[in-house]
Amino acid sequence: MSDETADLAEWKRQAIEVLAAWDRVFTALGEPGPLGGSKAANALAEVERRSAENERLREALRIAHYEIPMCACRQGLSERCEFAAALDAASLSETGGEAE
Ligand SMILES: [Zn+2]
Repeated sequence: MSDETADLAEWKRQAIEVLAAWDRVFTALGEPGPLGGSKAANALAEVERRSAENERLREALRIAHYEIPMCACRQGLSERCEFAAALDAASLSETGGEAE
């Protein structure tokens, strides 16, 4: 095998490795559509959709825990609630409230 052929074979091997890794990302995202669309563009749109959804869910948790009605756990009427735990998991501080 010439040096050039060996270089091309190595380049191909690395490209296949990188593409396989991106394929695993695409699969992990649930293989978002539309069919025939670019996988990269579809994956990016799916990530952006999920980020917006996470933002809405964090806001809903924040409202449930802090506002309507003031959560029983914050009034000392119950153990720390699931909303508070979920907010902690979402890295929102007790006083922060607002998602970034
Ligand atoms: Zn609570």
